[in-house]
Amino acid sequence: VPLLAARDLVKAYGRTQALRGASLELRAGEILAVTGASGSGKSTLLHCLAGIVRPDSGSVTYAGERLDRLPEKRLSELRRTEFGVVFQFGQLIPELTALDNVALPLMLAGTGRQAAQTAAGEWLERFGVRGQEQLRPGELSGGQAQRTALARALVTGPKVVFADEPTGALDSLAAEQVMTALVHTAREAGTAVLLITHDAQVAAYADREVQLRDGTVAPLEVTA
Ligand code: ADP
Ligand code: ADP
Repeated sequence: VPLLAARDLVKAYGRTQALRGASLELRAGEILAVTGASGSGKSTLLHCLAGIVRPDSGSVTYAGERLDRLPEKRLSELRRTEFGVVFQFGQLIPELTALDNVALPLMLAGTGRQAAQTAAGEWLERFGVRGQEQLRPGELSGGQAQRTALARALVTGPKVVFADEPTGALDSLAAEQVMTALVHTAREAGTAVLLITHDAQVAAYADREVQLRDGTVAPLEVTA
């Protein structure tokens, strides 16, 4: 049984058909790469799977629950507790230090400030953001900021991490460091990862790759 499954997703923005019957399954602990040309619907698919966007039709099932039918309140709770997200530009909160950015999801989940900051510090250290905990996002390098964003996505122990071009703005060395950190942590914790990328070297970190074409999924060969 897949942890997360999309069936026949259709989503239009005005006259643009972003998804035209896309289906996809993500198993627990699986790292799945979604590739495809710009505009093929990758981000829209990720947004539907993560419960950020509601499809026009089709279903999204997470651990037996129909996400596309959940009320917004339950959906946001689920996103907070079960999912982590990281985008091309980490979307860290610019006014907060790296440490406070990572501590925030824990504090929102009810962890006290002291304990949250201690845990956040450990995550930053393991992701190689050492000695920069008190810097704000604008003072970090691109790679450090993305590793901080990853720490923030993983700190609550999500079941699924959604990563939309997490290395898109990085040079290849920084991209490699981000992917190594992501894959290592996901393997250790059994976290499933849905990874959008246009970079074949990044896709190579995944167990499996599917390609989007004009809003539908075309499977590629299994790579692991
Ligand atoms: P990809 O991630 O593969 O580049 P997207 O899912 O971002 O593809 O976009 C698919 C299509 O839907 C594109 O034509 C894009 O311009 C359009 N689109 C995506 N999001 C929106 C939106 N919020 N409003 C209008 N059009 C959108
Ligand atoms: P990506 O690089 O991941 O494909 P985009 O740059 O296409 O993402 O889109 C970034 C954000 O803008 C997304 O939230 C997407 O839904 C939205 N978007 C994409 N295309 C359009 C569009 N034509 N009109 C309005 N919003 C769009």
